[in-house]
Amino acid sequence: MQIRSFELPPIGTNAILFDNGEHAVLFDAPATAWEKILPIIESENLTLDALILTHGHWDHMIDTATFQGAKIPVWAHEDDRVWIEEPMQQAAFLPPGFEIPGAKVDRILKAGEKVQLLGQEAEIRHVPGHSPGNIAIYFPEEKCCVVGDAIFAGSVGRPDLPGGDWPTLERSIKTQLFTLPDDTVIYPGHGPVTSVGYEKKNNPYVTA
Ligand SMILES: [Zn+2]
Repeated sequence: MQIRSFELPPIGTNAILFDNGEHAVLFDAPATAWEKILPIIESENLTLDALILTHGHWDHMIDTATFQGAKIPVWAHEDDRVWIEEPMQQAAFLPPGFEIPGAKVDRILKAGEKVQLLGQEAEIRHVPGHSPGNIAIYFPEEKCCVVGDAIFAGSVGRPDLPGGDWPTLERSIKTQLFTLPDDTVIYPGHGPVTSVGYEKKNNPYVTA
């Protein structure tokens, strides 16, 4: 599996592209994700199977409608569906004058669900607390997990945004992420990659 991460505008949000040489899956669609990813998909002859949104915050879903317009199915958790379908509900948090078109969620992902992605079985974990519908997508075979904004290298997602709260986020991290094997590589929605073992030992906000 090839995994490529792109830090994109306007606030440095990661779009993460997984591919197996034939098929690809994209996690999150910040601004310019389409113009960044499309040439790769085309030049490498990949089929983009899905755009999976780790959560519905505006900076992760700006380009979603463009992908949907190109018939790429959009997957997300039910609890953030409204923000994806009606992103301007988050207008208070957007840069002035910024407009984001809504997109339909084609497939709802549920906690504990096993999904076939790129020939591997991935597990959906529900990690609310930063946003109600933040999910982590765990690839046991690949030993990695895409976590959205639940946890970052040395930090955690903001729990003070609408629908977030700290006790919930702390519980999510402890029960859904720190229970993964220590050598699991974590791909967060912002900043560099880290690992479960490193964060269990060093994260200043959550102790294992
Ligand atoms: Zn977020």
